[in-house]
Amino acid sequence: MALLNKKLAIGFLLVALFFLAGIRLLTVNSSLPVKRGHVATKEKQVGARKRATTTRTHSTTNAPVTLEAQQEKGSERIPILAYHDIADSHPSDKWLYVKPSVFAKQLDWLKDHGYHAIGFESLYDHWYGNKPLPSKPVILTFDDGYRGVYEAALPLLKARGMKATFFLVPGLFDHPGYLTTSMVRELSDAGMEVESHTYDHAFLTSCSDEQLKHELKYSKDVLEKITRKPVEFICYPNGYYNQKVLDEVKKYGYKAGASSIHGRASIYQERLLWHRIPIDFRIKPEDLAWKIYG
Ligand SMILES: [Zn+2]
Repeated sequence: MALLNKKLAIGFLLVALFFLAGIRLLTVNSSLPVKRGHVATKEKQVGARKRATTTRTHSTTNAPVTLEAQQEKGSERIPILAYHDIADSHPSDKWLYVKPSVFAKQLDWLKDHGYHAIGFESLYDHWYGNKPLPSKPVILTFDDGYRGVYEAALPLLKARGMKATFFLVPGLFDHPGYLTTSMVRELSDAGMEVESHTYDHAFLTSCSDEQLKHELKYSKDVLEKITRKPVEFICYPNGYYNQKVLDEVKKYGYKAGASSIHGRASIYQERLLWHRIPIDFRIKPEDLAWKIYG
């Protein structure tokens, strides 16, 4: 009888231990960041887990990544604003520009409301390398390399100590209305990020393998030669991409990319397709707030 009681007691003890271990596992899992908005695909969930692991291994020079830090990254929604020309008019499009006086007011609004303009490199290093970001980060991007971004945007940015990212098309350099090669070097020397928007502004989903190499690798090589800095970020002409394009983009060494998908950027998005918020002629300075929060 005593032996039976002893066996029963050991049995109860084991059940209790398994039960407690189960509760512990559930608690840890339920405190992981949860994707909001729509259901994450299995692929994305695996990607997020992989990125979380990568972040930990990159943290050798920083403090260890805590669960709280991971949760904070998961809650971040970074506005990446997408501009084209900064000029009083645009030769071929009635919307793809912002007047310099309006742009200046938008920059002032951002500064007055505590925003800090960062580059793609800083956001990438934060999400995948654990480097800290300033409070209220925002990224300003300019596509296509119109001359107005040098003549009007650069002085306004420099006067306010603000950084920006320029997605440029080397095949258009030195053409009327576009940046010259020396203007591109000046942008880079002024601390602006110069990144690729392909070589010829080709629609990448219609390119052959050879054309893809030209658009992705050659544009990178030419820009790196001009700026003497690595070019590791890309923006897709007209926002066109497919899986093959993304695979090639990765193959040629790009770390992250700007898409034309509307919204704020998040660590849960495919890193080659960070979302952006388009800003054009129709956006008044007073409209910037709801565009950023929206
Ligand atoms: Zn473009």
